Formats: sequence, C-alpha cells, structure tokens
Amino acid sequence: MSDTAIAVSEFEMLAVVKSGLGPENVGLKAVPLPVALPGTALVRVEATGICGTDIHIAHDEYACEPPVVMGHEILGTVVEVGDDADAHWIDTRVACETYYSTCETCGYCRSGSRNLCPARRSLGSFENGGFASFVLMPVLNLHALPDSLGPLDGVLAEPLACVTHCLMDPPVVNAGDTVLVTGPGAMGQLAAQVARAQGGNVLLAGLDRDSARLSIAESLGIRTTTNPPAAEGFDVVIECSGSAPGAAGALRAAKRGGRYVQVGIFGKDVALPVDQILYKELVVSSGFASTPVSWRRAMLLIEQGLVQLGPLVTRQVPIGDWQQAFDAAQAGEGIKTVVVP
Ligand SMILES: [Zn+2]
Ligand SMILES: [Zn+2]
Repeated sequence: MSDTAIAVSEFEMLAVVKSGLGPENVGLKAVPLPVALPGTALVRVEATGICGTDIHIAHDEYACEPPVVMGHEILGTVVEVGDDADAHWIDTRVACETYYSTCETCGYCRSGSRNLCPARRSLGSFENGGFASFVLMPVLNLHALPDSLGPLDGVLAEPLACVTHCLMDPPVVNAGDTVLVTGPGAMGQLAAQVARAQGGNVLLAGLDRDSARLSIAESLGIRTTTNPPAAEGFDVVIECSGSAPGAAGALRAAKRGGRYVQVGIFGKDVALPVDQILYKELVVSSGFASTPVSWRRAMLLIEQGLVQLGPLVTRQVPIGDWQQAFDAAQAGEGIKTVVVP
C-alpha cells in the first residue's frame, strides 16, 4: 500500500510509527489526534529532526515501547494547554526536553539527573513523538525559543542540549585546550561549536566521503581534516562518530593525562584499544541525553549567538517521504535531515 492511500479522519493525523520489532515495522499510519491533558501542551509540529537514535530505534538497537510515534528533536508551536494556568504558552514556539515523564522520587531525579531515571519515558521511544502533525508535551519541559532563531534552527535545540550535557556539566574543555572532534554529523558539528565557545582550539575530523559535511563546518570557521594525526597530542578528544575506527583514533590521539568524551552511540559492542586509557591516564566522561541544566546552557549559547544551527539543517522532507529521510540519515548524507508534517 502506498503512503498516500492511508485514509485519515478528522480525528486523526499521519505519523511515523514503530509498531513492532524490526525495521519493517516502521511506517506511516493514521493515529488519533492527541488532546491536551492537565500539565501538558498540545504542540503543532513545524519540523522534527532525524537522529541517529531514530535509526537505532528502527533497528531495535535502542529501547522503545511500540506502538509509538517516533521523533524527539521537535520544533513546534503551542496551540492548546490542559490547564488555564499554562495559557501563557499558547502561540509560543518551543522545543522540549525529551523525557515525557520521570519518577521525580528516585535519587537521580532528586539530584537533577532526570536523564538517568530508570523510569524515564521519553518522547519518540516510549511516548508518542514528533514525526506527526501534533505532539503532547509536558509543560514543565518546554523551552521557549528565541525570536532570533531561523525557521528550522530549533530542531537542533535538543541535540545541542545533549552536547552541552556531555561537554559543559562538568566542563571538559579549558580555554586554550587543543580539541579533536571525530565524526562530522550533527553531534560532531555541535560539539565542535560548543568546544570552540569554551575556548578550545578545535579540529573536526571526518572521512573522505564526509567532504560536504566538513565544508559546512569550514564555512562556520571550524578547522577540519580527513587525515587526523594518529599520534597523541590533543588535550581533549570528543568522539561523535559512534564508530569503532573513530573511537580508536580518538583514544590514540588523546595526549597523556588528556580527556576522552564519548558522545556518539555505537548501538552494539565494539572492540577498542582500551589500554590507551590506562597507559595515558585518560579521564573518560560522557553524557546521556539531556538535563534541565544542559537545556539552560544550550538556550544561552543560542541566545548569545555562540552556536550557529541553521546551516546544519541540510534537508527537509515531507512526512510522506519519511523513508527517504531515514535512508539519508543512515547513509550519513548531509548533517540534519528534518521531517515536516
Ligand atoms: Zn536525538
Ligand atoms: Zn526518577
């Protein structure tokens, strides 16, 4: 059945749904329009970015609870709220923290690490997400976007908040540090910009086939290479490729006493030269998803013009062509492909 053959009633909308295990169970479906409940906002989706995590979810390499509407890098406008007290949000352009609900009582929640809550239910994996015309979001987790942002820049607020969580909480780059970022996808591009904002002297590394992505980074003033130094020499290495060769290269490029930061997701077990950590006394850190604090940092970087998001949105596709968008993301074409409902 072709996607255009799907009948949608006035109480429904088209959405990209993961309806069961296996990539063959990802597809366009008519689903009920959500209704605002107390504490939530009904958001009209303007665009939702495709993330590596979406590809992992499609291939059962990342936890989810089907059937669920996919997509968590959501840009939209609030059209309805479930409670009069939240009415000031109506007509506000927003992005949203990815968790729909957390327990708020565990040690992680109570200490501000809601991203680590074992009961976390996130948009696009456990609760309906943004590859659709409308999505329900908890008001608590909304972030108003600055007026200065370009039309689609806001889809990168969520990935930026993940990067600021990895790089700024605690800060991993000191002013003057030499920094190698491996992998010129969206996370690598954002990591390079955030590391630069922290005063790092940044080099972004990719493969020969990444030339288009690297030239976008160059146009934003980031130095790039397809041939990163194999020997130790960087104060900080930030691994954003989620590939074994990228991570191995990053471990080898870190200098003694340096810092290794894992940002990319592999989605499977990989073989790595872990002895590099011991021989060089590397400090290893990472960050999973985002926190309220990392969102605040991300929004400040945006407001202060320290990161440029617009040039990273390299393609938009209508929701009916969602498969093309997934294929482009999987093939590493462009930097950020967004789906528009
Ligand atoms: Zn993501
Ligand atoms: Zn919790």
